[in-house]
Amino acid sequence: MKIPKTTNRFCPHCNKKTEHKIKNISSGAKRGALKRGSIIRAKSRGRGVGMGNKGKWGSKPAVSKFKRKSKTTKKTNIMYTCQVCKKSKYQKTGERAGKVLQE
Ligand SMILES: [Zn+2]
Repeated sequence: MKIPKTTNRFCPHCNKKTEHKIKNISSGAKRGALKRGSIIRAKSRGRGVGMGNKGKWGSKPAVSKFKRKSKTTKKTNIMYTCQVCKKSKYQKTGERAGKVLQE
C-alpha cells in the first residue's frame, strides 16, 4: 500500500482545508495502554505479583511458533498532522496492508 507524504484535508481547528503531513504509526507505543482496565496498567501497578494462581493477571502459557499468527497483514494506523496549527488527528479505521510505503 502506497501513501503520500502530504495531503489536503479538513482541519476542525483551522475550520478549513489545510495541508496535512501523514505518518504511519503502526509500530511503537500503543494509545490507551495505561487506561483503566488495561492489562499493561494492571501489571505496572503490581497485579499478578506473588504466590499462587493469578488467574487473568498471571502469565500466559507459551504458544508454539506455528500457532502464534493467523493473519498475514496488519491494519494501518495513520496520523495526520496539520501544517498550520500543528495539531494531530488519528485515523481510526485502518485498512489491511502487508507493507506501507510512503512516497
Ligand atoms: Zn489546523
